[in-house]
Formats: sequence, C-alpha cells, structure tokens
Amino acid sequence: MEDFCRECPKIELHAHLNGSLSERTIQKLSHLEGAPHLYDEWQVAINHGQHRTLAECFEMFKAVHALTVTPEAVRLATSDVITDFEKDGVIYLELRSTPREVKGRMNKEQYVDAIIDAILSHQGSIVVRLLLSVDRRQGPAEAEHTLKIALDARKKHPELVVGLDLSGDPTAGALDLFLPTLSKARDQGLGVVVHCGEVPNNPEVMEMLRFAPDRLGHVTCLHPELGGCQQQWDALLASKIPVEVCLTSNLRCKTVPTYEKHHLRHLLSAGHPVALATDDKGVFCSDLSAEFLVAAKTFDLSQHDLRNLSLAAVNFCLAPPELKEKLRLHFD
Ligand code: 5GP
Repeated sequence: MEDFCRECPKIELHAHLNGSLSERTIQKLSHLEGAPHLYDEWQVAINHGQHRTLAECFEMFKAVHALTVTPEAVRLATSDVITDFEKDGVIYLELRSTPREVKGRMNKEQYVDAIIDAILSHQGSIVVRLLLSVDRRQGPAEAEHTLKIALDARKKHPELVVGLDLSGDPTAGALDLFLPTLSKARDQGLGVVVHCGEVPNNPEVMEMLRFAPDRLGHVTCLHPELGGCQQQWDALLASKIPVEVCLTSNLRCKTVPTYEKHHLRHLLSAGHPVALATDDKGVFCSDLSAEFLVAAKTFDLSQHDLRNLSLAAVNFCLAPPELKEKLRLHFD
C-alpha cells in the first residue's frame, strides 16, 4: 500500500509555499542567507512536526519567513518545493503563497515574480499553477493589492496564475472585509478558494457557503462532533463544494483529536467531493503519499478507492478542460 500511495499519480490542491519547505531546503536557505542560526531556530520551532495549537502553528511560519527574504531565496524555495512534489508522484500542483515585502530586500511584486520564475524554469513534467493568498491578518487594502498583483501577473502568464486564496489566522479579520475582493477576483475569472471553519464560527461558515467559492479548505469545525452543528454540516453537503482535506495538518494543529475522528469519514460516507492535500508538508513533516496512506489505513480504503479519490481531484483543479483531460490520461 505504501508503494501504491507513492506511485499513484496525485493532484495537490492545497499547499502553502512557505509551509512546504523541506529540512534540506531550509538548510540551503540558511546557508544562502549566511545565517546558520536560522536553521537551528527552525529546527527548534518545527520539532519534528509535533502536535501544537493552531496559534502555535502560526508562530512557526515566522521561522520559515525569516529565510525567504530575497527573490533568490524565494526562487530556490519554490524550485525545491516543486521538485519535492514531483518526486512524490504529484502530476499537478496548485501552489499558493502570500505576497510578502521585506524592507530593503524585495517588494511583493518581486516576491511573486520570483515564484513565477521558478515555476517557468522547472524542468520536469509536473504541471504547476499559482494562487495568491490573502492573509486574514491583513486589511482590505492589502487584499486589493494582492488581487492587483494576481491580475497583473496573469496578464503576463495567463495559464499560470489561476486564483486567489483566503488564509491566515482564522481568528483574525472578519470575512466581510475580504468578500468584495474575492467577488472581484471571481468576476475577473480567477478561481477563489477559502479556508473554512478552522475554528467554530457558524455565521461565517454560512456566509462562506453562500458565497460558494470554487473549493473550501479544511472545514474542520462544521460537523456536530467537531464543534459545528447539523445546520452547517447539511449546508456544506448540499453545497457540493469540493473540500481540500488536510489530515495530518488538522491532527498536528489539534483541530481534530485523532485521525479516526477526522471529518473525512463523514465526507466520504456522504459521497461529498474531496481532495487529499498536505497544507504545509514541511511544517507538519508529511507528504501527499503519506496522506494517502493515512487515509487508506484509517478509513479502510482500497487501492481502487485511492485511485478514484485521486482521479476525482482532477475535476476540482482550477484548470481548463483540455488540461484536465490530459491529467486524466495519467490514470489510465
Ligand atoms: P506562505 O503564504 O507564506 O507561502 O505560506 C505560509 C502562510 O500560509 C502562513 O503564514 C499562513 O498565512 C498560511 N497558512 C499556512 N497553513 C495554514 C493553515 O493551515 N490555515 C490557515 N488559515 N492558513 C495557513
């Protein structure tokens, strides 16, 4: 089963760039920055993906952000992450990242250009697409700036920039602040994906479901057994909006108590569209094959079930029909 999980073609739809850096990449970046102590600090912060609260998880990103501070570092990080996913059998990767400015070293436009540069210069068969993330800790003006960067980048690389993501600390920033930007993105033909229900918040979840993004991330606290209620769970199932499921991330952030109690069980039994994803493979010490294996072991899935799960994720890619057809051929 382990070999099968690695060899099965996989679609990764929920991967944050800075959360996905391997230890080897962190080492290279600290060397590039001439600051070996940053690697030590990262090791202490990550501590082999130990379990911690969601708030503590957000603190950990600081250790990574201290290293991706120049266009050169961002290029190296992106290039390594793409290679990692390709080695893991991922054939299509939607990578997301929050444009970041580092005073005196790079602006947000340069940050995004560096990611795009790395995607374009990657030699391999994996297909990579980019979403820009709006961080809930930012305000609406920054969200608008991110949308502008996405639209400008799409003008130059129409196939490559495919959407906007709403992420960042789920306890910060009201959804209302960001809905106008997300609506504009949708009107402009960008895909919109939203982190949903990482903490219990019934009114916000219902508002997100009404907004109907292309995909939802996590949906951790919607089921009545996990801090949600029947009304929002039923609304989710009725919406048929595909869910990006991040098993290990949810466990390590302590938003689900065990794999067995993960809401994937209920999503599968309801036949709801789902895509397994890593979220932050570097921070949570996982990869997509490992997520497949956990799903198989926990929910008693056969190789046939896993293959169908992986194939179904093609339907939820922010990609044109011709590309989806090409991806499906890998499964034959
Ligand atoms: P970056 O956008 O810098 O490439 O990736 C790291 C950022 O992604 C974090 O600072 C955070 O804003 C966002 N992120 C990563 N994992 C999660 C998650 O599990 N939940 C939410 N809401 N945001 C996340």
